[in-house]
Amino acid sequence: MGFRPFICRLAAKHGLKGVVDNRSDGVSVIIQGDLKTIDRFSNDILENAPPASQIKSIEVNPKIVEGYGQFSIAGSKIIDNQITEVSPDIAVCPDCLSDLSYDPERIDYPFINCTNCGPRFSIIEGLPYDRPKTTMKDFIMCEKCTSEYHDILNRRFHAQPIACNSCGPEYLFYDGRKKITGSEQIIQEIATRIASGETVAVKGVGGYHLMCDALNNQAVISLRNRKMRDAKPFAVMFSDISVLRKYCFIDENEEKELQSWRRPVIILRQKEPLAEAVGNGLKTTGAMLPYMPFHYLMFRKLRTPVVVLTSGNISEEPIIIDDSVAGKELMKVADSLISYNRKIHNRADDSVIRFINNKVSLIRRSRGFVPRPVDLAFNVDGILALGAEQKNSFCIGKNHQAIMSQYIGDLKNLPAYDFYRESINRFAALFRFNPQYLVCDLHPDYYSTIYASVLEKEMKVPLLKVQHHHAHIVSCMAEHDIDERVIGISMDGTGYGTDGNIWGGEFLIADCERFERFTHFDYIPMPGGDKVVDEPWRMAYSYLFKYFGDSLDYKSMPVFKTVDKLKMELIREMIINRINSPLTSSAGRLFDAVAALTGLCTDSTFDSEPPVRLESAIECETDLYYPFTSDGTVIFADTLKAVMTDLYNCDISLISAKFHNTIAQVILRISEVIRKETSISKVILSGGVFQNKYLTEKSMDYLMDKGFEVFINSQIPSNDGGISLGQLVIASKTLA
Ligand code: ZN
Ligand code: FE
Repeated sequence: MGFRPFICRLAAKHGLKGVVDNRSDGVSVIIQGDLKTIDRFSNDILENAPPASQIKSIEVNPKIVEGYGQFSIAGSKIIDNQITEVSPDIAVCPDCLSDLSYDPERIDYPFINCTNCGPRFSIIEGLPYDRPKTTMKDFIMCEKCTSEYHDILNRRFHAQPIACNSCGPEYLFYDGRKKITGSEQIIQEIATRIASGETVAVKGVGGYHLMCDALNNQAVISLRNRKMRDAKPFAVMFSDISVLRKYCFIDENEEKELQSWRRPVIILRQKEPLAEAVGNGLKTTGAMLPYMPFHYLMFRKLRTPVVVLTSGNISEEPIIIDDSVAGKELMKVADSLISYNRKIHNRADDSVIRFINNKVSLIRRSRGFVPRPVDLAFNVDGILALGAEQKNSFCIGKNHQAIMSQYIGDLKNLPAYDFYRESINRFAALFRFNPQYLVCDLHPDYYSTIYASVLEKEMKVPLLKVQHHHAHIVSCMAEHDIDERVIGISMDGTGYGTDGNIWGGEFLIADCERFERFTHFDYIPMPGGDKVVDEPWRMAYSYLFKYFGDSLDYKSMPVFKTVDKLKMELIREMIINRINSPLTSSAGRLFDAVAALTGLCTDSTFDSEPPVRLESAIECETDLYYPFTSDGTVIFADTLKAVMTDLYNCDISLISAKFHNTIAQVILRISEVIRKETSISKVILSGGVFQNKYLTEKSMDYLMDKGFEVFINSQIPSNDGGISLGQLVIASKTLA
C-alpha cells in the first residue's frame, strides 16, 4: 500500500531516525527522538495515511534503542508465508492529477501514478510486489524515474509502476484501417468518433470497456444490437461529480463512496433521463466517476459529459483483457479500439455497489476490493471454498483471513470456467496457498462441484459439501463475527436443497456449523425447469394453477394474451403430469410470477429483470400489504388473489409496494414465531433477493421495530458471489 515509504517521508519531515519493517502482525516502526516529536509523528500517521491503507490501531511502546544514523526501510525481501497482502487497484490520486499539468516529464501522461495510486492487482504476476514481478517489467525506467524511485523523499519512491512520457506505456488507436499514436491525437479522434455516435472499445485497468455517448439514443441502441442484443442496463461514467448530481439523486454516503479510491459503480435513482436505451426502462442508473488518468484527459475533449462504459465482452463471457482477442472480438461490436502496450495480468471488472439502509452493499466485488482479505473471527487456514455457479467467486483461507477472488461470472459459460480454474491456480501461487480442505455447494451439477471432485482426487484432501442457503446465512454471520444460533432468512433464485428440491425462500435456524429448516415458501412446480427464468409468465401460470386450478379463465388474462395457446396447454400438461417440472420454494420465482402478472415483465431479457422491474415500479409510500397464510409452509394463494383484484383497481406502483410489504410481513411474522419458540432474536437476511433495496429496508424496519437485531451483507455480496465465504467458515467449523 506504499505504507513504508509513507512512514519514511513522514520521519524525514519530522527529522526522526529509525527503521520501518513489514511484519506478519502489521507494520513495525522503530523511531528515535524526543517524545513530543514522536507524538506529532504518530498523529501524522493517522491523519495523512495513504488513502488505500487500513489502520486498525497504533500501539506505542517506549524502548531503549541502539542509535540509528538515518531512517530506513528494512529489506523485507524475504517473504514468508504471512506477508502476502496484495493491494487492489487504486484510482489516480489528486496529487498525480495535478502533476499532469506541472510535472515536466509527465504533462498529460496517461499512465501517471505514485505510491498512493495506480494499478496493483491487475498487473501483479507474483510476490514480492516488485516491478520485475509485474507487467511493468517490459518497461525500462528512464534516469528521472529511476532517481525518483530511489529517492525516499519522493512520492514515487518504490512506486512499482512508476513511468513517464519518455519511458512508460503508451496508448494506441486502431479502427481497422489507420493507426494513431500519441495520446493527444488519440483523444481528439475519440472525441470526434463519440460525437458521431460510434462505439469505441477502450482498454481499462482490469479489462476492456465498450464506450459510446450516453445521451445519444441511436448510439446506445446500435451498441446494444451489435453486442448480441444485450438488454441489461449499461453502466455510465460521468465527467465529474457535479454532472452526476444533475442526473442522479445522491446522498452524502454515496457521494463519498463514488469519489473513494475504489471508484465503484453505484446504483442510483435517476433525476434527469439519459438516452432511453441506457437504462432500458429502469429508473436507476449504474454510475461511476473517472478513475484512470486517461478518463480525465478524455473528458477534457469529449463533447458529452457522460458515456456508456460497459464491460468489453461477448454475451456472458468474461471481460476481455487480451489485446489480440480484443482486436478480433470487440472490433465486431466497436468501430475502433484504443489499446495500450502494458499487459493486464489479472482480470477485474468494475465493482458494483448499492447503498442499503445507508450502508455499502456490494453486488459485484472486483476492482478496488479484490484481493483485500476479509478479517474473520475464525481460523480458516488451508481451506479452499469453491463457491456456487452463477456470479461465482471462490475463496481461500489464510489463518484468520478469507481472500476472496474477483467476480468470475457464470461457470456454465466455458470461458468463465477456464478463467475460474486459472484464477484458482493463480491465487494459490500468489498467496502461497496449498489447500488442505475443500468445500463446495451441495448441487451435484454445478461446475464448481464438479471441479471440487476433480481437485479432491488430484490432491487427496477431504471435501465437504454445504447447503446453498446455509452458506448464504453464514457468509453474513462471518462478516459480523457472529458465532451463535440465529434466525437465518435466505431468499434467492435457486439453491439445491437437502430434499433434492430447489430451495430459495428459506427460514432457517442456523449456526456456523449446522442448520434446521424451520419453514419455507410453498413448493411450486417450474414447468420446463430453468426455462422459467427466461419466461416468468410460466411461473405466473404455475402459481395460479396450483392455487386456483381450472377455475380461472387464463386465456382472458392480460399476462397470457401474448402467449401461444398451445404452449399454455402444454405447460398445463407438464404441471399435471409432473414432466420436467421440478418443485421450488424460491422467492425469486414468486417475484417472477408477480412481475409477469402485473405485466411488467412476462419474458426476461437479462439477469433478474422481473424483480428489478418490479422494485423499480414502486413510486409510492405505503405500509399496506396483501394477506397470506402459513400452514407448515408459507402460502400465497390469498396474496395472488388480491393482486389480481388490484390489477383492476390500482396502479402498478401500489401493487408492487403492497407485494414487497407482504414479503417483509412474512419475514417479520415468521421471525416472531421462531423467537417465541427459541428466544433467538438475531435475524440474518441473505441471498440475492436482498439486493432489493426496498424489500430489505422494509424488512429491517419491521424487524427492528419489534426488537430484533438484523444483519445484512455489506463487503461481501448477498448474491451467489458471497457463497464461497459462507462455505469457508462452515468448513472451518465442521473440520475443526
Ligand atoms: Zn498518485
Ligand atoms: Fe443463492
